[in-house]
Amino acid sequence: MATQITPHFTMEEMLTSQTAIRFRYSEQFTPPNNVKQSLTALCQHVLEPIRVALAKPIRVSSGYRCLRVNTKIGGARNSQHIDGEAADIQVLSMTVEELYQFIKAGNFPYDQLIQEFDSWVHVSFGPRNRRQSLRAVKLGNGHTKYLPG
Ligand SMILES: [Zn+2]
Repeated sequence: MATQITPHFTMEEMLTSQTAIRFRYSEQFTPPNNVKQSLTALCQHVLEPIRVALAKPIRVSSGYRCLRVNTKIGGARNSQHIDGEAADIQVLSMTVEELYQFIKAGNFPYDQLIQEFDSWVHVSFGPRNRRQSLRAVKLGNGHTKYLPG
């Protein structure tokens, strides 16, 4: 049975992780209460309003990441995913750029909105919500650069 957070988002999809399944990181699926509260706030204040405004299904490819998952996939050490404050999303019928522009143009109270490598949109909601929008691009040396945009 799925635990519904909002009409269109469940706790299970916010905890999804192929890496955790593959490496048996069971803590990925039993996060502390403060993480569950942050995921709930992210869905209520940002993801559900975007979903309703779009009227299109949103696919969450990564929400919460336990420390071992975050390390394994090379996530930033201070990633908001670790605190349950961020989600990477895609909409199948839109390009990543279209989704990014749609969210940016709305009045959603996000902290950071990042167009990542034309592959997904990262959106976060936390204690502070700066409505900062950025583009992540890969440099030749493998490092990531964040450009305003
Ligand atoms: Zn992300």
